[in-house]
Amino acid sequence: MQQAVADPLRDVASRHAHELAGVSVEYSGGVTALDDVSLSFAQGEQVAIIGPSGAGKTTLLHTLGCAVRPTRGTVRVLDVQPWSLAPSALHRLRRELFIAPQAPPLPPRQRVVNAVLAGRLPRWTLWEALRSLVLPREAPLAAEALARFDVEGKLFLRCDRLSGGERQRVGLARAIVSDARLFLLDEPVSMLDPALALAALQTLQAEAHRRRATLVVSLHAVDLALARFSRLIGMRGGRILFDLPRAAVDGKLLEQLYGRELGASLQDSATVDIATFALPQCR
Ligand code: ADP
Ligand code: MG
Repeated sequence: MQQAVADPLRDVASRHAHELAGVSVEYSGGVTALDDVSLSFAQGEQVAIIGPSGAGKTTLLHTLGCAVRPTRGTVRVLDVQPWSLAPSALHRLRRELFIAPQAPPLPPRQRVVNAVLAGRLPRWTLWEALRSLVLPREAPLAAEALARFDVEGKLFLRCDRLSGGERQRVGLARAIVSDARLFLLDEPVSMLDPALALAALQTLQAEAHRRRATLVVSLHAVDLALARFSRLIGMRGGRILFDLPRAAVDGKLLEQLYGRELGASLQDSATVDIATFALPQCR
């Protein structure tokens, strides 16, 4: 499809703003991480991706986040085809995407406040960014974002003093201070206890809903995915096994998805009473 030349980022009229059409990703070494995947997401939609390790979930999120270029097929995000954009336009597009890696790469000696404010970098000049390292520009914003994940007390701590769960929440606070309209979160609550995981996911969903951003989340905790998302995508071996409303995802499908790993997966979340997750959807 021909791209709008004037300002492709303004064209957000279509229903399915994000789409993968026949997308395959082969890594060097011959691994096919995505195998002819076709999916679409409406702007503002909230979707969970589940599936066993190695299914291609991270690759899918990185492909939507324009961090991985497909070997075959077409990608459209925020209604533009990123790989047909000029480098400067691709750079602008990336400002509107937020990829949260499972283990956020926080510089060990950096203070938490600066690590969170890294989410503001796309809107700052280089000079503003450098000055902010000494005198944080928007510290109250960072504090507010941290408070939403219950880690506000860590604002001036060094990142290497944080626990794994705190690091993960600092990474998520970055999403809150960013201007993203597409959140791609890779197992964002994997290091949190069940109550914190639920609260963090609720915060992210509420924020995405508030700004009409699309939220695509890979989740290891199947019960959390079932409780919080009305659309679930099951991936296995680089392919989409199902793409269904929550009500249609039953034990049989989950067994097909996880195979022998199902037992282990459910065991991981067995400490959680699924009834505690039966909360109303944000949208
Ligand atoms: P998941 O997130 O579901 O565990 P991934 O997308 O991380 O799946 O990985 C899918 C497949 O691609 C796996 O077989 C993995 O080993 C492989 N893979 C992932 N990243 C790379 C890479 N950078 N280079 C080579 N192979 C990779
Ligand atoms: Mg992964």
